[in-house]
Amino acid sequence: MDKRDLTSLQIQFIKGVGPRRAALLKRLGITTVYDALTCFPQRYEDRMNVCSVRQLNAGATCTVLGEVVSAENVTAGRRGRRLLKIFVLTITDGTGLIKAKWFNQPYMKKRFKVGARVVLSGAVKYGYKGAGLEIDNPEYELLGAEGEDDTLVHTARIVPVYGTTEGLSTKQLRTIIHNVVEAHADELGECLPEDIRQRHGLPGITESVRSCHFPPAEADVELLNSWRTPWQRRVLFEELFMLELGLASMKQGKGAEPGIAFQPGGELIEKFLDALPFKLTEAQGRVFQEILSDMKTPHPMHRLMQGDVGSGKTVVALMAAISAVQCGYQAALMAPTEILAAQHYISIHRMVEGLGLDIALLMGSTRDRPLKQIEAGEVDIVVGTHALIQEGVRFKRLGLAIIDEQHRFGVMQRAVLRQKASNPDVLVMTATPIPRTLAMTLYGDLDCSVIDEMPPGRTPVRTRIVMADEKASAYETIRQEVDSGGQVYVVYPIIEESEKTLLRSAELGHEALAKMFAGYRVKLIHGRMKPAEREAVMDGFKGGEIDILVSTTVIEVGVDVPRASLMLIVHAERFGLSQLHQLRGRVGRGLRRSTCLLLAYGPLGDEARRRLDIMVASTDGFAIAEEDLAIRGPGEVMGTRQAGLPDLRVANLVRDAGLLQPARAEAFDLVGRDPLLQSEPVLRAAAEKFWHGRVEIFKTA
Ligand code: ADP
Ligand code: MG
Repeated sequence: MDKRDLTSLQIQFIKGVGPRRAALLKRLGITTVYDALTCFPQRYEDRMNVCSVRQLNAGATCTVLGEVVSAENVTAGRRGRRLLKIFVLTITDGTGLIKAKWFNQPYMKKRFKVGARVVLSGAVKYGYKGAGLEIDNPEYELLGAEGEDDTLVHTARIVPVYGTTEGLSTKQLRTIIHNVVEAHADELGECLPEDIRQRHGLPGITESVRSCHFPPAEADVELLNSWRTPWQRRVLFEELFMLELGLASMKQGKGAEPGIAFQPGGELIEKFLDALPFKLTEAQGRVFQEILSDMKTPHPMHRLMQGDVGSGKTVVALMAAISAVQCGYQAALMAPTEILAAQHYISIHRMVEGLGLDIALLMGSTRDRPLKQIEAGEVDIVVGTHALIQEGVRFKRLGLAIIDEQHRFGVMQRAVLRQKASNPDVLVMTATPIPRTLAMTLYGDLDCSVIDEMPPGRTPVRTRIVMADEKASAYETIRQEVDSGGQVYVVYPIIEESEKTLLRSAELGHEALAKMFAGYRVKLIHGRMKPAEREAVMDGFKGGEIDILVSTTVIEVGVDVPRASLMLIVHAERFGLSQLHQLRGRVGRGLRRSTCLLLAYGPLGDEARRRLDIMVASTDGFAIAEEDLAIRGPGEVMGTRQAGLPDLRVANLVRDAGLLQPARAEAFDLVGRDPLLQSEPVLRAAAEKFWHGRVEIFKTA
């Protein structure tokens, strides 16, 4: 039997699993035997060391083995109207007595006969009023008579601890998985090629799966808990390898796809550069050249442009768009939200003034959609949201699609966009700098460019946390800043789904601030305003006609006001790290020394506290992104699900970054030699399963 059969063998038919438990297991993502085999422990507990009762100390976690001396239910007072019943088990190992207690489980009594041998594991404490040592609610296991061969599952070994669900105890789940491993681990098919296993010192599949669940006695618990034993590395490697195989194959397919061979250059881009009020940084120049050389090849570009907030990505993207337009094509820029799209539209409009280009904005909420003009090719650059990839939108000659990612557009959406035209070039922008291998994996099929340099003239921003009860000091700082010639942003949180209710908080905040700062010019801006209105307010702020701009997170991107030198972020504890960083990037753009105040409402949870502390400690987008990854994990930060990647069951792209590189190298090498994996049928079938039929070449197996 091979792996494929195990993936269709229902868990219901395993010993100890009936329909009720099968339903519970389903909640854990286990429906088949294969699911159970690959549902690995969250952690391991060392219950190896059987202690003698005499050695025990209160506070330690231990395992003891002894004979039952007595087993009885006692009544220990009442809780409200209910009697509190305790089942008390007393055992001896010849060196002393120890009690174990279970609360309100009188049926336990039936399980223990006096004289039976039993193993208990748990935390030892002193009983009530010096009543000797006891263990509350220990894990227990009954043994056969002395001399019999016992396989202990729950005690006296390194014990796996699985994440379970209500209605299924840790012990029940462990028993089920033990049964599955005993019955079926041998049937797992080896899918990793022998040479790859040897090169990386990876044990066989059966041994690995078995030992990941029930490690042998000599295993090192610390290594196990950090997922670094050979068995675990093998399992991780396999999953990452499957992931990379799919990516390698997609990429291989794309490399061969025909695309547009642009011949950029010419006067449009020169005019643009001449009109630009600054010189490109070296990094911007380099990345633009990388993009150009992709655009020139007769294959579609798939490139990721990384760069911290304010590093000047938009300018570079716009230059790519202008190059496409110069060659007679249309370009599209897609942003994840309407607010961001409108911002891009406004700033691009400004930047290309005088070039004679037609720019259009296309969003779900706009009524007059420029669909006809887009289809007729009258529009050169279209800025928009998801609406751009919806049915009714047809381009005449889409040559370049730019996606301002913010991690919300995935591999699959990019695929839809590509279908809008005959393989346009695709450029993805992201402000989350992440390690290269990780980026290449999360963005699957993309090449990577990094703008690793900030435009000159930025001043580092000082950041402070202000707790709500010291609000007054924040207002005082605002007053001083304005009095000395600065301008101030006050930002209120807004969360997309409840935009309306939270908008209210910005409106109320605006009212309050307008009152408090009566002699000053205080204005409100938010995402529900029409782009033109919003632009008017922004222009007022830029022109110095507004002192204090109260806003929702509209100003997250694209706003550049050098005189703005103070930002107060209200309810800073509600923002994610990368958003805080993006927001803060709006100040420190001029010569004034800038400050960011994080107004927080306590009590703060650990995570919120950590986020705010990082903001105070660092202004480096790279460091902040790494912390964000560490706090939230890559799934959350990058949205692997939205990215269209299969779920990873065991691997963690941050923790296991060290295995990602070799897995990727091997996968790309193999696909390079044998694109259809003809020499590895088991592997190919496994890869197909892993990718759920989403990768073309695995489907034709
Ligand atoms: P990003 O999209 O990476 O956050 P932007 O492209 O929005 O950054 O640029 C941020 C601001 O810096 C914009 O106002 C832009 O005009 C300005 N800028 C971009 N490149 C340069 C440069 N080389 N020198 C000076 N200012 C620049
Ligand atoms: Mg930008």
